[in-house]
Amino acid sequence: MEHRVSIPFDVPFSFELFPPRSPTAEVALWQTIQRLAATGPDFMSVTYGANGSSRQSSLAVLRYILNETSVHPLAHLTCVGSSHLEANRLVREFLDAGITSFLALRGDPPEGSVEGDRFLGDLGSASELVQLIHRVQTERAQYATLASRGGPGGRLPDSRQKVRVAVAAFPNGHPRSMRSNQDIDTLLAKQVSGATVAITQLFFHADDYLRFVDEARTGGVTIPILPGLMPATSAIRLERILEMTGERRPDELSRRLHATDSPEGQLEIGIEHAIALSTAVLSGGAPGLHLYTFNQDRAVVAVLDELHLSRHQSMASAQSAADHQTTARHQSKEPA
Ligand code: FAD
Repeated sequence: MEHRVSIPFDVPFSFELFPPRSPTAEVALWQTIQRLAATGPDFMSVTYGANGSSRQSSLAVLRYILNETSVHPLAHLTCVGSSHLEANRLVREFLDAGITSFLALRGDPPEGSVEGDRFLGDLGSASELVQLIHRVQTERAQYATLASRGGPGGRLPDSRQKVRVAVAAFPNGHPRSMRSNQDIDTLLAKQVSGATVAITQLFFHADDYLRFVDEARTGGVTIPILPGLMPATSAIRLERILEMTGERRPDELSRRLHATDSPEGQLEIGIEHAIALSTAVLSGGAPGLHLYTFNQDRAVVAVLDELHLSRHQSMASAQSAADHQTTARHQSKEPA
């Protein structure tokens, strides 16, 4: 594939995964994670099912990333339907598991539920969850300090260990936004609450992202806004995503995918489009790339390879790096 690249050197990149839905999918996912880890991503994020439906399986994937790779795990969390107490326990459970990076989300209503905000529970927005995560971590740190002073030979807590909280951003507006600048105001509120980075909903037109970042900067948002990109590797997947997100149809990509019968041909078209989109947003100043993998590595690795972004290690050296991890890893792993 011929491609001219005019992007900065050593661009941060990351991947999104979802928890497996069957034992067979789980085995396949561990292999996918190892192949993705070998490219040297800054972090891997794991989605959280509506209404906490994937709480244990999300945590299992996060633990796998933490224990079996040298990559920093980032947990998506939503608090749909939870009371303050339940949300507090949820955050604590993830912190106890060694997770220190989160994507705080409001979450969507369960399927079939009536519209309105009654589905939400005690926390009404992602901003409130950002604050809660910081509060729980601060309380734990204070408790750890007291505990270590109390006992003889008690270990001093690592005061540098801070949580990082990412939030979602919507370049083309959240489907339920009532006015165009509501999404900038919401993002600003999340920043004020303590968010350190934003990750966007996927989009197919570079201008949508670049315009949104410009407007966000004008509106006072200073945190990095990572573009979320998905290689559309089949016509069926593109249609499903457009339906789920309400994003503007990429006409040319759609026409080419629908005109090609072969799965290999469609895969190549999706990769090509993702490379062009990545190049455009990086050339426009994007601080990195967040790639939606759909638990498959082939397309996203091809995109990174073509852009010369992957910090490839062989599988053997990736595994040996993972083996060298010690318990100290839990304190020291930080995304770049
Ligand atoms: P918020 O920031 O709280 O609000 C979203 C939008 O709703 C705002 O932009 C605003 O337009 C509007 N809004 C907020 N408050 C009000 C109000 N009081 N009145 C009117 N409008 C309001 N969902 C999951 O269940 N699990 C996941 O793992 C997951 N991962 C995601 C990852 C990314 C990168 C993105 C972009 C989305 C993800 N989602 C996930 C979907 C997300 O939960 C939904 O889009 C949800 O509807 C909004 O979440 P939020 O965190 O942006 O909410």
